[in-house]
Amino acid sequence: MHIIVIGGGVVGMTTAYELNRRGHQVTVLERHGIAGNETSKGNAAQRSYGVVYPWADPAMVLKALPWIFKRDGPLKLRVPPSVETFRFVIASLRYARSPGLFGLNKRAMLRLGIHSRKRFLALEQELDLNFDGDHKGLLHLASTPEALEGYRQTHQLLNELGIASRLLTPEQVREAEPGMTGNGPLFGALSYDTDGTGDCHLFSRDLAQACESRGVSLRYNTETEDLLSDDNRVTGVVARNKDGKAETLEADAVVICAGCWSGQLTRQLGLKLPIYPVKGYSFTVPLADPEKAPVSTVHDDNYKVVSTRLGDRLRASGFVELADFNRDIPKARLATIRKSVESRFPGCADLMAAETWTGFRPMTPDGPPIIGRGPRENLFLNTGHGTFGWTLSAGSADVVAQLIDGEETSVCLDAFRPGRFAE
Ligand SMILES: Cc1cc2nc3c(=O)[nH]c(=O)nc-3n(C[C@H](O)[C@H](O)[C@H](O)COP(=O)(O)OP(=O)(O)OC[C@H]3O[C@@H](n4cnc5c(N)ncnc54)[C@H](O)[C@@H]3O)c2cc1C
Repeated sequence: MHIIVIGGGVVGMTTAYELNRRGHQVTVLERHGIAGNETSKGNAAQRSYGVVYPWADPAMVLKALPWIFKRDGPLKLRVPPSVETFRFVIASLRYARSPGLFGLNKRAMLRLGIHSRKRFLALEQELDLNFDGDHKGLLHLASTPEALEGYRQTHQLLNELGIASRLLTPEQVREAEPGMTGNGPLFGALSYDTDGTGDCHLFSRDLAQACESRGVSLRYNTETEDLLSDDNRVTGVVARNKDGKAETLEADAVVICAGCWSGQLTRQLGLKLPIYPVKGYSFTVPLADPEKAPVSTVHDDNYKVVSTRLGDRLRASGFVELADFNRDIPKARLATIRKSVESRFPGCADLMAAETWTGFRPMTPDGPPIIGRGPRENLFLNTGHGTFGWTLSAGSADVVAQLIDGEETSVCLDAFRPGRFAE
């Protein structure tokens, strides 16, 4: 089959790779000049298979409100909120209040996470990609006794699903992360032993090259404007290149992997995708002293900031901000991220010299991604991965390829069905 993949972020590139591996002829349409240049560019770099959870968390509803007003609080809301923000918040609250939904969705996402880890390991064996990737585990620090107590429950669920994790004492945390000499509060940690890291942008770019060398057609600087269809099938894709020239491409199937912008393409076919751009920030800086830096990746629950080692660089990232598609990077946000790093890994890098970034998590109001068949029989969706698109990309790509080939999927896709927002 000839299959068009719309979007060359990490989800689009892994999808293209899986389809090519299965013998399909694949064309990727990407409006940027390179792959992985939007949300996949500067994320926190965690492949956190054991951590994945839905956005609509009932336990967060009351906790989150005071965060908005706290100076270094991890949640920010632009005032006055837009109609889109307001709608997203209301829908999220509705899902958070839906009895039992969080637990079901969390398990579904964890199963997809387990599958994604398997697919990443296989892919890394199949291809020689350079993206500062590793699987050395992930630490969630507990800066209060209550946080540690919460981790005990998570630890039980992970055990039940066969995901390796350990509760660590502060001494064990410092043994695992000897560079962690800062004075931030520490009561222990939950260690996700088999989780990983990696630069999602480098991975996407390298994978795009590998795909190209295997015959995938990568059409950069090409914006998809329209999907042509009859009642049953997508019959063509209207794409415009940077010189303004439009052409209609034919395909046997189309997969939408356009992150935050996916809804613009499905709306014309009668499917509303309530994907909201949840903003976050990161900075990346060369290490001044590798001994003082994280060995792997550490989530500081005190500031909700993640510090990740990427080879000889540090990536630090944080904040959940509801501000639509605003790309400003306020100094105050970077100052909070710096505070976290300094309180855990002092002296590891010259943080003022860091390269800064902002991006938008393609978030669904309930939290699981959208994976499945769209409103036409040859249209498929692999999008809306929110906070965990890097982590879930390899698994999502595999299951969407299975679906296209009419196979039973390795993971049940009920929680990810595209039509759920209209139910
Ligand atoms: C601050 C921050 C930290 C994060 N940390 C992590 C983390 O540690 N671990 C993790 O797993 N995830 C993390 N994420 C989330 C993760 O980065 C995203 O879920 C993931 O990158 C989404 O990938 P994607 O391919 O779906 O979207 P994108 O990377 O946005 O790719 C979509 C692509 O589609 C293209 N496109 C859109 N519309 C069109 C069109 N009409 N025509 C042609 N091309 C189009 C865009 O140009 C873009 O390249 C983080 C996100 C943020 C913002």
